[in-house]
Amino acid sequence: MQLVCLDLEGVLVPEIWIEFASRTGIPALARTTRDEPDYDKLMKYRLDLLKTHKLGLPDIQKVIAEMGPMAGARDFLDALRRDYQAIILSDTFYEFAMPLMAQLNMPVLFCHKLEADADGFLVNYHLRMPNQKKEAVQRFKELQFNVIAAGDSYNDTAMLAEAHAGILFHPPQNVIDEFPQFPVTMNYAELRAEIDKAAQR
Ligand SMILES: [Mg+2]
Repeated sequence: MQLVCLDLEGVLVPEIWIEFASRTGIPALARTTRDEPDYDKLMKYRLDLLKTHKLGLPDIQKVIAEMGPMAGARDFLDALRRDYQAIILSDTFYEFAMPLMAQLNMPVLFCHKLEADADGFLVNYHLRMPNQKKEAVQRFKELQFNVIAAGDSYNDTAMLAEAHAGILFHPPQNVIDEFPQFPVTMNYAELRAEIDKAAQR
């Protein structure tokens, strides 16, 4: 049985923080896992910035509600789910992602949770567990799935390495250079072809 694990941001939807940074005019919020591989350091930096600018969850959700999936993402995912089991493994948060999941026909999503205070300001984030992408792939393998994983960034590389087949989708050049073992795909047609190829092996 084949299972496809997909990253969310940069694969099916735009980078939420980058979009938020441009709409709020706070360029410092555009920093992502592409720039800072240490996720905890990145999140604390983001929460501090939001506090400084007095931006709460409702402000962020307003921006996200106006965002949509990337062009072609819904068709790609619908077609993929006809032929494979698919699960989205993301380091985003349910509070951010659900408006976007609705636009993607509600696929299964494993991600993290945010904690807001009574005024809506974000006070903390809660990872469901450390290294959840890699851990999830490991568990799926124990359940006898053949796992094919695709992602675009640093926070996907452990998942890609753990899977039977790992595929990069539209990655930045530094990730391509540092992880030459993974095939690189630049659009949904190429990604689907690489998934089908991996499934044949
Ligand atoms: Mg990503």
